[in-house]
Amino acid sequence: MPATVDDLRGLHDLHRRVKALRDRLESGPKTLAARMRGLESRRAALEEARTALKQRKSDVQRQELLVQSQRTRCDDLRIKLNSVKKNEEYKAIMNEIAMINKDVNSKEEAILELMQGVETAAAELATQEAEVAKFAEGVEALRHDIESKAEGQRAQLQELEAAITESEAVVPPDDRERYRRSVKGKGDDAFAAVDRHTRACEGCNQVNTIQDISELMNAERLVFCKTCGRIMYLVED
Ligand SMILES: [Zn+2]
Repeated sequence: MPATVDDLRGLHDLHRRVKALRDRLESGPKTLAARMRGLESRRAALEEARTALKQRKSDVQRQELLVQSQRTRCDDLRIKLNSVKKNEEYKAIMNEIAMINKDVNSKEEAILELMQGVETAAAELATQEAEVAKFAEGVEALRHDIESKAEGQRAQLQELEAAITESEAVVPPDDRERYRRSVKGKGDDAFAAVDRHTRACEGCNQVNTIQDISELMNAERLVFCKTCGRIMYLVED
């Protein structure tokens, strides 16, 4: 439990700790959301690669079917040759067989190339799948980490806020409304330390008057920086 403080410097410190905790509580889910978007786009790319591989495989199948039907046609033509009587018809059939064979050869070469493409794409897909799985694991681990820490951070935040409420007793009653307006708008940035020797406001670097410093030393009222409006408190350098 953070201790209640009895000076403005301590109060400023409590507000700083609240700010740091709030930032952490906000940044975790933001980082997680960005990673989730990254995962989604990786999964979409993976789906595209899967579709492309399927397409390559079906291209191979289609070409193989074409070759198969051309081979059947050749077989039929060869059977036909046995019953052909005319030399011209024989030649014509032989020509057709030759043409089909030539086409089959070039198709088979193309099929080989397509199959190599399938192999390469399949290997790439396997690598990509492993990468996406690893990324997804990382996102899950991050989610778990953020969620497990958030509970403790929220509890800590409540404690800090309670400590702030109690410590606000150091603010003179007449100044409390202005104090609340300031911290509501600016949080921990509502405060600024002032070096009693240089008299410089830490928030805006303007040098305060000796009168301001003596008011700060009296500590009867809050003293606001005339330049930046921050609530000032004295520190030694
Ligand atoms: Zn200032």
